Amino acid sequence: MTCLLCDKPLHDQPTWQHFLGIRKDASACPICLERFERIDEIIQDDVLDSVHSLYAYNEAAREYLHQFKFMQDVALAQIFAPILRTVLNDSKKIVVPIPMHPLNKKKRTFSQVDALLEAAKIPYQSLLEKTTESVMGEKSRSERLAMTELFHIPADIPYNEAVYVLVDDIYTTGTTLRHAAEALKQRGVHRVEAVTLFRPIREK
Ligand SMILES: [Zn+2]
Repeated sequence: MTCLLCDKPLHDQPTWQHFLGIRKDASACPICLERFERIDEIIQDDVLDSVHSLYAYNEAAREYLHQFKFMQDVALAQIFAPILRTVLNDSKKIVVPIPMHPLNKKKRTFSQVDALLEAAKIPYQSLLEKTTESVMGEKSRSERLAMTELFHIPADIPYNEAVYVLVDDIYTTGTTLRHAAEALKQRGVHRVEAVTLFRPIREK
């Protein structure tokens, strides 16, 4: 087996963790994994009851997302499967991936958030449907906030009392997650949390 990121054989870099079997499900080598900076930043705002971002959006993260999303390398979903399994391991919470627009999905052939959850073997419910083709970079902040029809929920929400956890690859402005949380709360959900793989941090 080789590292999914650098192609070097995984057994060439033995560590105590490998020896003890702790990291037997690792799909990238320790050298590549070390390039990701774990931050575990947790914030909250008026709509999102908590947002837990796992890693800094650094150079390694940029390269990873580029290869994963745009080169359509679905195998890369395996790299973060162990950590996502740990963080989202609560069967009482309902995991809801942030969807991509159907047109984007057609272009990219797979939804990267669904792929992350499937690799981690986390059950999820695709409750949200994207309604607006959003090109965030071309809109001002007030325009982005005014776009209330970003998501709609076609099905019934069966368990309003449950905690819902939105999952996305990256937290940037938070607009996407806030719109998704609002859509759920309008349907009677009390608590909406979020987990994102990456979040930009201020450069030192
Ligand atoms: Zn590697």
